[in-house]
Order: sequence, then C-alpha cells, then structure tokens
Amino acid sequence: NDVFESPDFYQIDDLLTEEHKLIRSSIRSFVKKEISPIIEDYAQRAAFPQHLVKKFGEIGAFGPTIPAEYGGGGLDYIAYGLIMQEIERGDSGMRSTASVQGSLVMYPIYAFGSEEQRKKYLPKLASGEWLGCFGLTEPDFGSNPAGMLTTIKDAGDYYLLNGSKMWISNSPMADVAVVWAKNEDGRIRGVIVERGMEGFSTPEIHNKWSLRASCTGELVFDNVKIPKANLLPNIDGLKGPLKCLDSARYGIAWGALGAAMDCYDSARRYAMERIQFDKPIASFQLIQKKLAEMLTEITKAQLVCWRLGMLKNEGKATTTQISLAKRNNVEMALHIAREARQIHGGMGITGEYSIMRHMMNLESVITYEGTHDIHLLILGNEITGIPAFK
Ligand code: FAD
Repeated sequence: NDVFESPDFYQIDDLLTEEHKLIRSSIRSFVKKEISPIIEDYAQRAAFPQHLVKKFGEIGAFGPTIPAEYGGGGLDYIAYGLIMQEIERGDSGMRSTASVQGSLVMYPIYAFGSEEQRKKYLPKLASGEWLGCFGLTEPDFGSNPAGMLTTIKDAGDYYLLNGSKMWISNSPMADVAVVWAKNEDGRIRGVIVERGMEGFSTPEIHNKWSLRASCTGELVFDNVKIPKANLLPNIDGLKGPLKCLDSARYGIAWGALGAAMDCYDSARRYAMERIQFDKPIASFQLIQKKLAEMLTEITKAQLVCWRLGMLKNEGKATTTQISLAKRNNVEMALHIAREARQIHGGMGITGEYSIMRHMMNLESVITYEGTHDIHLLILGNEITGIPAFK
C-alpha cells in the first residue's frame, strides 16, 4: 500500500476540480497512515478500531455533503464519492462505518428531521463524538423491508417501540440509532433511539468472515419509551429509508472502485516482481489478460461514478441509475479481487496482502444495501414496467 498508484487510464483526473484532488489526496494520506498499517490486524482479530471514529470526524469523512452549519463538509457528491473510494481502498468495513454515519444516520436527520434534531445530533455525529447506526433490516425481512414487524405505538406522552433489527452495522458501539418501524396505521416512520433508553439493547453478531473490522449487531426494543421529539417529523412511508439507501449506495459504488483499484495495483506490482520460469509472471499472456480486463473494468466504473456524481450534484440521479452503479461496481470489484488473488498465488490468501480481506469484505457489500439480484430486478422493473420481485 505504501506505493499505491491510482489507475487513471482515461485521465478522469481532468474532470475533477483542484478541491476534489486535494480532498482525495488528504484522505489517501489518512488511509495510508491510519488505516492500512493496522487494519489487517484488527480484521484478523475481528475487532473494531474505535479510535478511528473521532479521526474520521476530524478529516471530514462523516456527512461530507451535509451543510457546514450542522458540522458537515458542505461538499459536492464527487468529493463524497472520492472520500468513500479512498477509505474503501483501505477497507470496506471502514467505509461502511463512514457510509452508515453520513448517509444512513446524518442524512435522514438532516433531510427528515426537525431543526432541534438537526442541531442536537448532527454536529456530534459529524465530529465523531457520537457514532450512529441505521436499523431497517429484520431477521425475517431483508430484501423485503416493507414487511417489517417492528412497531411504534402512540402511548400519550411518548411512543412505545417494540421489535428487533438484524445485521446492523455499528450497532454494538452506537450512541444513536435511526430506526424504522410501523405505526398503528401500518405506515413506516423513523425514530431516533439513544443508547441508555430502557429496554434498548444491541447484541453483537459474531463469527463473520466478512467485514471483520466492522462491528455488526442487532437492535432489540422491549417496550422502549421514545420521546415524541425523537420522531422524524418530515417523512412517512418506505420512501424514507429508501432515500437514505440511495445516498449510501451511491457511496458504495465509489467505495467498491477503491477496493478494486487496490487489488489491481497490488496485482500489477506483484506480477512485475514475481519470477516463475525465469521471467516475471507479468510476461505471461494469461496474467496480462487479467490485468488488462481489470483496468478496463475499473475505467468503465470510474466513468459511471463520475457521471452519476454529476447527476447527483444536479439532483437528477435516479434510484435505478444508482442501482446500476452499485450493482456493476461491486461485482466488478469482487471479480477483480478474485483475479488479483490468483495473480498473488499462495501469497494471495495471506494477510501480507489486502486482497483476501477485500474479497471477503466485498461478499457483504454485494449483499447489503440491496442484494446484487434485487438491484437487477429494480433495473428489470425500470426497463419493462413489470416488478418481478413481488
Ligand atoms: P434475503 O432478503 O433473505 O435474500 C436471500 C437471497 O434471496 C438473496 O440472494 C436475494 O437476492 C434473494 N431474493 C430475495 N428476494 C428475492 C426476489 N424477490 N427475487 C429474487 N431473489 C430474491 N441492514 C440495515 O438495516 N442496516 C445496516 O447497517 C446493515 N448492515 C449490514 C452489514 C452486514 C455485514 C450485512 C451482511 C448486512 C447488513 N444489513 C444491514 C442487512 C442487509 O441489507 C441485508 O442482509 C440485505 O438486504 C439482504 O437481506 P437478507 O440478508 O435478509 O437476505
């Protein structure tokens, strides 16, 4: 990682502003100094590097697009994408922490919250003083969140929250949870749950082979009394969580690119140095085929990300456009990780290189925030007008 060279075959850098390049270079230095040297050890121990949360806040990785008056970076979506790309070049689990905080916790509080909620939560989440999580998925409702069983009932002075959420990134460490639940009318509403509320617990999920340096858990609500001021007032229905996912999935499309770039760069360098049959393995056509296809796919994905970012800046990016990018880029990254793993031979399965960790991480990334196949069906629906997932 010390000598990482970012592929830029189509001079995409020319499409970036000086500010974009500066932000990318500062996050790249941060990843090189703070993440790359320690992450393999944390992943091997399945431990979450909690000390990085405050540091993420300091470098502006949390809520880069949230206006500065609430502690955010006030940046555009290309800058946000580049930040996700660089963090995921280090580790998908670390990018997940940043995605969840920015897109799934800060974004809904900013977009759907009251002014009091924005002022109370956003600056502390931006600085990393508080860590947040996002509770949508339930044990029996993953791809079909509309079926959720968690309920929120009006009990006069407060709401009563009951149910449970599963597979929640950051949950065991989180101070704040944005949780989606059904009210008496069966409408999905969002509430802000705080650690310490009676009846609220966050058991950790163990034995993951993927995103090992990211902390994943459940959210359990047993008659939790939620103050009325903690309901997100300005959103009603499934579109609330889906809008959050649009924002996070956009970041994932860029993040996966970062993981792919790291695998490609590592494979290219290894192929040039590794000698077999008295030659660098890079001189064999089959290795060159792998490298050429990696660069081709990375270049295509870079262009998709850049164009999607410009559309997002103009407020024009659609859910299906984001589905295409998330689906394409994560599969591309996973494929590149697998090919890079082969180029590294036996060394590829060790923690000496980041490849196997990226590969295992990407198995979660291809499943969360809408599985690979669900995004395909979203595209199928767009093309035909026929929803095949129902
Ligand atoms: P299922 O929905 O049961 O799907 C199983 C398989 O069936 C998949 O291949 C799927 O594509 C397929 N399938 C389902 N329905 C259809 C259909 N109609 N047609 C064709 N195929 C179908 N959730 C949160 O709310 N917050 C988080 O922070 C969060 N973090 C996560 C972190 C990790 C590490 C992981 C693994 C998951 C996380 N998730 C989180 C949950 C994630 O979003 C879900 O795992 C995902 O939506 C899939 O749901 P599921 O696992 O229940 O799979």
